[in-house]
Amino acid sequence: MPSNKSVSDAPIIQFHNCRILKDHKLRREDLWIREGKILNPEKLFFDEKGSADVQIDCKERIIAPGYIDVQINGGYGYDFSLETDNVNCGISVVAKKLLSTGVTSFCPTIITSPIEVYQKVLPRLALRDSQPAHGSALLVGVHLEGPFISEQKKGAHLSQNIRSYKARGFQDLLDVYGSLDNVSIVTLAPEMERSEEVTGELVRRGIRVSLGHSIASLSQAEAAVKQGATFITHLFNAMLPFHHRDPGIVGLLTSDQIPDGQIMFYGLIADGIHTNPAALRIAHRAHPSGLVLVTDAVAAMGLPTGQHTLGQQIIHIDEELHAYVAGTKTLCGSIATMDFCVRHFWRATGCSVEAALEAASLHPAQLLGIDSVKGQLEYGMDADMLLLDDELNVKATYITQQQQYMSCSELS
Ligand SMILES: [Zn+2]
Repeated sequence: MPSNKSVSDAPIIQFHNCRILKDHKLRREDLWIREGKILNPEKLFFDEKGSADVQIDCKERIIAPGYIDVQINGGYGYDFSLETDNVNCGISVVAKKLLSTGVTSFCPTIITSPIEVYQKVLPRLALRDSQPAHGSALLVGVHLEGPFISEQKKGAHLSQNIRSYKARGFQDLLDVYGSLDNVSIVTLAPEMERSEEVTGELVRRGIRVSLGHSIASLSQAEAAVKQGATFITHLFNAMLPFHHRDPGIVGLLTSDQIPDGQIMFYGLIADGIHTNPAALRIAHRAHPSGLVLVTDAVAAMGLPTGQHTLGQQIIHIDEELHAYVAGTKTLCGSIATMDFCVRHFWRATGCSVEAALEAASLHPAQLLGIDSVKGQLEYGMDADMLLLDDELNVKATYITQQQQYMSCSELS
């Protein structure tokens, strides 16, 4: 009779009464999981004659892939650019707490810092392919934002830590970072001398090059794309504003110089503060398939208003949830959570639910080259997923089938 054991002894879980995000649409289907992977029910029924060991009634909820945040500086009081002696402690606290925001994978981001920070922090971070600790979001590589950026668009990064690689090119970069083993993304300013060779070398090593904190012209940005750059760091912020005769990095969204078959991805901070809703709509309508929602969250995310730290600086969170360098009006990252950004982006642009969800899941997975295992709910992929209500509030978060977070309203 039942032959659930024909392939594996592991229990089969069936989520039913739900809508699943699949093939860019919400579909009324059940979702089947075994050993942390999404099962093809046809194979299960017909080849294995298998059936569910556990059934979960989703009460009409949406099931979406877990969110992937490729730019997060810290949160809940921990700043990844400061926690040099005990960075793993900060990372593990944030990795646990992120689950309530729907984030199941993330790239801890180190802003422009002194050399000692890179050389202390980078070797301590777990490799991207490792399994997440129980009840934690998975690290999918570090995002190094700087220090090879433009002084003129430094934003909240400190001038004294900004560097160039004009003397020795890629070797200068290696001397600063020490190791690139755990690095997924490097943000650099493409107008800097020798950027093309540095970009090409990073790309050859499997690292995504992102353009940002820059005064690059469109042609300089296009030259970087020809060397393999595939991402733009927080579009509109810390770059030249759009100008019709030279649209700068923003022009990459509609450039005819992007190589065939390549998607130009770009990060957007949809926190309601960094990017005006009209700008969100312009970006989305011009180039929806490259849109990647990022939080750019700082240590103060999840904390009350007041003074906090970002890298070597003191910042201030005001009552309207703006995060400024203390004593200035320079924005320095957000304190919005990813689930908030998804909801804000969805409402501000009037895009489909599917588009909003894919901007936080499929697109970042494609950017990182992990879309064969994460960011989608296709057969054989990791069962990192969210239960969401119709307003896109996170009701539960699962990582490889284990429920790791459930909202209080679901418990009542
Ligand atoms: Zn930045």
